[in-house]
Amino acid sequence: MKEILKVNNLIKKFPKAGGEIDDADAISVLKGINFDVEQGEYVGIMGKSGCGKTTCGRTVIGLYDKTDGTVLYKGKDVHAMKGNERKAFTKEVQMIFQDPYASLDPRLKVNQIVGEGMRIHKMYSSNAEIQDRVFELLDQVGLNREHASRYVHEFSGGQRQRIGIARALALDPEFILCDEPISALDVSIQAQVVNLLKRLQQQMGLSYLFITHDLSMVRQISNRIAVMYLGSLVEIADSEDIYIKNRHPYTKALLSAIPIADPTIERERKRILLQGDVPSPVNLPQGCNFCNRCPYATQLCKERKPQLREIEPGHFTACHRAEEM
Ligand code: SF4
Repeated sequence: MKEILKVNNLIKKFPKAGGEIDDADAISVLKGINFDVEQGEYVGIMGKSGCGKTTCGRTVIGLYDKTDGTVLYKGKDVHAMKGNERKAFTKEVQMIFQDPYASLDPRLKVNQIVGEGMRIHKMYSSNAEIQDRVFELLDQVGLNREHASRYVHEFSGGQRQRIGIARALALDPEFILCDEPISALDVSIQAQVVNLLKRLQQQMGLSYLFITHDLSMVRQISNRIAVMYLGSLVEIADSEDIYIKNRHPYTKALLSAIPIADPTIERERKRILLQGDVPSPVNLPQGCNFCNRCPYATQLCKERKPQLREIEPGHFTACHRAEEM
């Protein structure tokens, strides 16, 4: 498959209040991220709150400036795009937001929300064509044409997220960043939205970067999963390998916390309880960022940072002891 996105050593720092980005105490939120997304692929970035995953998504699509490194979309530097190139990028790359309540303008009708991008990008020559396309999109996401003349406050959370998805699809995108698109929804609605995203991927060949803290949900949808801890990717592998053959202690701890529906297995399995606190991002350990919480830490872990390395074809782990896990 062809690569659509390539992220090389991406670094993002935020200065402290009143400070500069070059100051020694600037907070490094992304510490050299490397991954790629192939055309038609669904890549999940999974991590706990505050690990940097939302910053990663937003920097990757150019909503935030980078501090260093490169992000290439179809071979072109996202942060250097200008003029028509930038315009084409903002059409091809869309985002589905975490909060369907806050991301849709309450003063506009669904018709205007979904049709707005098509008007801006002059995709159709008449209002009638735009209207037809809005109806088509609403149908595609499981709503209907009567919904077009309503305001967003008239919809449930799941329906609002469907409107957000229709808005993203209106521009015929090729790549969609989904930032926690289901976390604000009821559990019963989450599965419906995930199934919708999956169906659209199959029908339209879309590529997705799916950011979430929910490992059980990301498994159902992703081809590959990257696990993030304190601004670094600690493991990347095929979705099933992350669940069955994971090699990083942090991934193991996260997975051990997911409840299993079978009460017998749930009773017998061992849960890994992490000790210690997440270190402050301004005062990281000299060695592995996970070493103060890791049950397998050795002296080497305290002294030297492990690099992300390929331990099996397509399976990358940042752990000195990955082969023993
Ligand atoms: Fe644990 Fe050491 Fe591996 Fe870090 S490098 S995850 S401290 S075993």
